[in-house]
Amino acid sequence: MSAHDADPTVTGPHDPEHEPSATLAFEPEHAALLTQRLVATSGESAVVSSPLTGQPLAHIPQSNDGDVAEAFRRARRAQADWVRRPVGERAEALLRFHDLVLDRQDEVLDLIGWESGKARKHGFEELSHVALTARYYARTAARHLRTERRPGLFPSLTRIDVNYVPKGVVGIISPWNYPFTLAMSDGLPALVAGNAVVIKPDAQTVLTALLGAQLLEEAGVPRDLWQVVAGPGPEVGSAIVGLADYVCFTGSTATGRIIATGCAERLVGCSLELGGKNPILVLRDADIERAAEGAVRASFSNAGQLCVSTERMFVADQVYDRFVDRFVARTDAMTLGATLDWGNDMGPLISADQLERVRAHVDDAVAKGAVVRTGGRARPDLAPYFFEPTILEGVTPEMSCFGAETFGPVVSVYRFHDEADAVARANEGEYGLNGSIYSQDGPRARAIAREITCGTVNINEGYGATFGSVDAPMGGMRQSGLGRRQGAEGIRRYTDIQSVGTQRLVRIAPMMGMSDAAFAKVMTSSLRAMKKLGRA
Ligand code: NAD
Repeated sequence: MSAHDADPTVTGPHDPEHEPSATLAFEPEHAALLTQRLVATSGESAVVSSPLTGQPLAHIPQSNDGDVAEAFRRARRAQADWVRRPVGERAEALLRFHDLVLDRQDEVLDLIGWESGKARKHGFEELSHVALTARYYARTAARHLRTERRPGLFPSLTRIDVNYVPKGVVGIISPWNYPFTLAMSDGLPALVAGNAVVIKPDAQTVLTALLGAQLLEEAGVPRDLWQVVAGPGPEVGSAIVGLADYVCFTGSTATGRIIATGCAERLVGCSLELGGKNPILVLRDADIERAAEGAVRASFSNAGQLCVSTERMFVADQVYDRFVDRFVARTDAMTLGATLDWGNDMGPLISADQLERVRAHVDDAVAKGAVVRTGGRARPDLAPYFFEPTILEGVTPEMSCFGAETFGPVVSVYRFHDEADAVARANEGEYGLNGSIYSQDGPRARAIAREITCGTVNINEGYGATFGSVDAPMGGMRQSGLGRRQGAEGIRRYTDIQSVGTQRLVRIAPMMGMSDAAFAKVMTSSLRAMKKLGRA
């Protein structure tokens, strides 16, 4: 169904006649089996509803502080054995996990769909990211973590070995928007580096995280090594921050600050993957068809509930009208639907809160004079929290969607005359997560990329070129985060770096009755000689 073609026969919110056309029905017994993996003895449970129907999906047992402590105890015990296994053996488990994720994709994609409502192809994006990450770290962990020899104080007399020592138990706090990859992909490098993991997924998407944990166990990862706890962020999340040897957080900038403060008090490290207000620049030499197609994916993947998705587009004057017409036409041609099967280009938002946030941004913009080029409406005929993919023009700084993250399918398009001005506007605001440039001149686009203050910049693609290249470090500048996932940086963050110095033959002090003054003279000559020799 197109964005503008409401069909009342498609799934209604509370009508049992209109259940989503699932490839598999949701099985409550499956949920009950999965929740047995939780460390949760509080006796309380939370009801989770599916965004596909608005109807209750499962009861999730809730963890308390004691459960979090128990999860850490079990994880620490398991880690003491795990760390003694060779890295190659740990990597083998990741490769088996890779295969299981691909083999069992229908089961995983169904659960992602039930819990998040996203279109199946967007579920597949995250599933393939998990497989890529598992393979990448299985194949590269030994290289990233191998002990390095570095030059010592006295050449050949001082030997330096740098070791990467696992932190111990890593705490992961993840959001709901990419429930499979954000629950799994940060933990995989932690595991292969020799750590254990305790994870608290968002309350809406606990089952997907539990299925990931089950697949890890089936792949040969000891059950206690990967603990899952459930409950409200301020309680269960902060209990994790109070016990972890390192915290990996993905979520909003506001919560990221709270996590950073908690880690600072305990002097433990953290990586923070936070919000964004990501720009695309369409330069005058861009391939317009390609830019319009890319803009649809960049703006509306997972209904815009994606940290790296585009919310601002700056388009060169010379191609503005042509580009916007094609972007609108392609958006109007999108297939919208709240079903588990393939074929939808966009699914619903995840919750009533998300719908309100998106609707408030659009209403505010319209009330203050913005023009809706397409979309702009909620679509309860499709699913309770559905909102159309929306393109706005005429957005001004007084409107909330100008600078604040909408985290929904809403993008503002602006005209620019000069590229320096476009770069300056793209760099406005507090965020610096992801940017994108469309141009047929690669070297020029890469030169402009260096001026964009974002942790990742994609050329002729919205976000997939960097996100899918798992050797490329990924994270935010400015208020979009601290630290990096992916690449060597993404695994070394879970280690403490230890330098071991072995001194041979001479001491680093005056020898054989030499005075301090004579020693200083010898050292001065040697420092000068080293500089002349070009030593670092
Ligand atoms: P959120 O910060 O509200 O919640 C994220 C996680 O933190 C959840 O598990 C939540 O329960 C937990 N939490 C909440 N308060 C907590 C506290 N006081 N202490 C400890 N844990 C707490 O974020 P959200 O609204 O669920 O997710 C959307 C946000 O996440 C957006 O801003 C989006 O841009 C960002 N995000 C960023 C990335 C990235 O890689 N940069 C990826 C996905 C989402």
